Amino acid sequence: HNCGRIRPMYVPKCRVPAHGYDHIVFENTGSFVTALWRCVGPGCGGAKLQGTSQSPCSCEWKDAAGRAMMRARTFNDTRAYQVHALQLVNIDNSEFRQYQRHPQRGQIAAAHYLNLIDSLAEGIGDASQGVTVTRVSPQEWQQREQLLRQMHVPEEEIEQYRRMMGPEESGLAALPNTDADKVRWELLGADRPFVERAAVFDPAQIQRITLDDQCVRFAELQDRLAQQTTERAREQARTLGIAEIAVTWEFPVARVAFGYTREEHEPERGVLTGFHNKYHHDGKYPVYVAASDTEALLVTFSARSVLSFLSAKGLTVGAAEDESVARQRLLELFTDQDDPEAARAAATVHTVIHTLGHLLLRSLDDGQVGLAENTLAEWVVTKALTVAIYADNVREFTLGSLWTLLSNRVLSWLESTADSVLSCENDPLCHQSSPRCCERCVYLTFGCRLFNDDLDRGLAAEFLRHTAASSHT
Ligand SMILES: [Zn+2]
Ligand SMILES: [Zn+2]
Ligand SMILES: [Zn+2]
Ligand SMILES: [Zn+2]
Repeated sequence: HNCGRIRPMYVPKCRVPAHGYDHIVFENTGSFVTALWRCVGPGCGGAKLQGTSQSPCSCEWKDAAGRAMMRARTFNDTRAYQVHALQLVNIDNSEFRQYQRHPQRGQIAAAHYLNLIDSLAEGIGDASQGVTVTRVSPQEWQQREQLLRQMHVPEEEIEQYRRMMGPEESGLAALPNTDADKVRWELLGADRPFVERAAVFDPAQIQRITLDDQCVRFAELQDRLAQQTTERAREQARTLGIAEIAVTWEFPVARVAFGYTREEHEPERGVLTGFHNKYHHDGKYPVYVAASDTEALLVTFSARSVLSFLSAKGLTVGAAEDESVARQRLLELFTDQDDPEAARAAATVHTVIHTLGHLLLRSLDDGQVGLAENTLAEWVVTKALTVAIYADNVREFTLGSLWTLLSNRVLSWLESTADSVLSCENDPLCHQSSPRCCERCVYLTFGCRLFNDDLDRGLAAEFLRHTAASSHT
């Protein structure tokens, strides 16, 4: 039952006393709606005793129709038991802990994403200085500067003013004023994956090597062939709307299982049951943690491409030439809680990023690199347009496969990802479905945090068409 109660199927007894349970058979039709219990004892001749219809549960939980019916499922049916778990970035140092608890962590994460600071340490430092001087915007400062010049104020004095009250060009103070621009940076502090991304992309916390780094390395080694292939891979990445591809050996992910649902698994519908047992753990609710430092591919999509796509779809206006400006525009959109258009734009971005993440992951499973789809998992940070694909080495150890990929095979990987957006073995059936997705093209067996919700090859294909078209102009 949805409430979590589970009990074995009821097996009826034949009414003929000599038969009892001795001649009962189960007629398995493959469906609990039509499956039957029959008695094949002498005289009964296979008479129907009972169906396997639902029986009521004694709990208080009721469905929309006010009933509490139990449902029959085979024991390995995933509807009968679904574990719910969180992914946490699990860095064990005092700086990261200080950052996680910091009241301004949303601002620090945003400043890091917008390239205003390079590290968490810098952000924490800036925040603790508690800059209280009200600074003017760049436009206002221009006007003031003109005025000061007209008043023949010496240049060094103007420079002093600028340093005191002029617009900040870097650091936490360079974040646009929250009141004036309606950007709710502090809301980002509640988005745990967004906060964690700043740590994952801070080289002082976690080392990563990008495709660009690889290009430089091959150039230094004068390996012309490898350099050319890597440059073509970068070009291919751009047409997929990807701004950065990197690999890390130490993706510090922990999976924390805290409960399970039966029958209904969606928010507001499923009933979450914790792993609680009154005889163990002093009656508390335990959580189960699997922590590992594992290999991961880190893919960040281009904010300029995403913004341009949203603009083409009429979900926002205007594009941006500068990547940081585009990122800022998208964060404004993602934190705007009042505008239904902004919510639609955010949902669109989520579906595109999530779908491409799945396709990138599935394209690794080509029988060559040694990565099976069901040994990989995803980590999605929509607001930062970032997807990580990590080796779930609770199941399997990968021994540098992802690094091999970044060194040699990234071009073919990206090419097969681009192809997989367009076709599915289940086409034309899959192609005609809406949203366009199924277990043959997009779904993941274990690795999806969202149980394969919010996926659409159609929307992803639209994004790629738009990006490819605009990257040629
Ligand atoms: Zn009988
Ligand atoms: Zn119940
Ligand atoms: Zn499909
Ligand atoms: Zn997923």
